[in-house]
Amino acid sequence: MRAIDRALTHEVFNDLKREEAPLREDVEERITLAHPRSYLESIKAALPAPGEDPVRLDPDTVLSSGSWEPALRAVGAGLHGVDQVMNSDSGISKVFCQVRPCGHHAEKARAMGFCIFNNIAIAGLYARAAHGAERVAVVDFDVHHGNGTQDIFWSDKDLFFASTHQMPLYPGTGAASETGVGNIVNAPLRPNDGGEAFRDAMRSRILPALQNFSPDIVLISAGFDAHEADPLASLRLHEDDYAWVTEELCEAAERSAKGRVVSMLEGGYDLSALARSVAVHVKRLMDAA
Ligand SMILES: [Zn+2]
Repeated sequence: MRAIDRALTHEVFNDLKREEAPLREDVEERITLAHPRSYLESIKAALPAPGEDPVRLDPDTVLSSGSWEPALRAVGAGLHGVDQVMNSDSGISKVFCQVRPCGHHAEKARAMGFCIFNNIAIAGLYARAAHGAERVAVVDFDVHHGNGTQDIFWSDKDLFFASTHQMPLYPGTGAASETGVGNIVNAPLRPNDGGEAFRDAMRSRILPALQNFSPDIVLISAGFDAHEADPLASLRLHEDDYAWVTEELCEAAERSAKGRVVSMLEGGYDLSALARSVAVHVKRLMDAA
């Protein structure tokens, strides 16, 4: 978060409207759009008290006494972003949510991969429940497959999920054969694939499917761990690839979704590459707004 904060102090971001991710009164109710109430309660029950040791929800996902508020604020950021872009009076059509923890691995009833609640799926379901968006699309370019979002969207033809990701890699899902009810598009990439393969997967599979789906809002699971410098995986994307895909997704949103885009931060573990990549992503969102 500090690395991104520093990158966004550059003067090209002077016009960026910044808001703190809110702690909303309706956040628990909204979480249950994507997760059973029993799951929410189980997370609450697992929270250590201040001074107690953190607990592991899975081998990667640690819950400390300080985890609850940021988890709720991460969800709240997506809700607030959706409120902004769906309300035509706001004058805002592009939002980036700089949040931790990330969300796209969290399944309906399972925390995993650093993720507690599925921020982006909750945001998408909220766009439908609270704002009448009929068709909601999530495009996920994190290097890991967004198994949680896929799990939550799986059998609903009005929810679209498309992902590029390295395969094989954690969490092991995301084969091209996983298609839901025709609403899921997985375009796995091979280790060492770079921008050309990424753009080809987007151009040949994901962008045409997205256009065909004709979403009312485009949500982006924006993970930047497919960057060549990232230590957790071995794809070879660069900042210009993130700039390109951001422009393409904004153009897609222009066609059917009145330009409405809410992007939420997922992974990204080389802090310098993360900061530079977020900077180009946010700049392109600003340019398209
Ligand atoms: Zn990731």
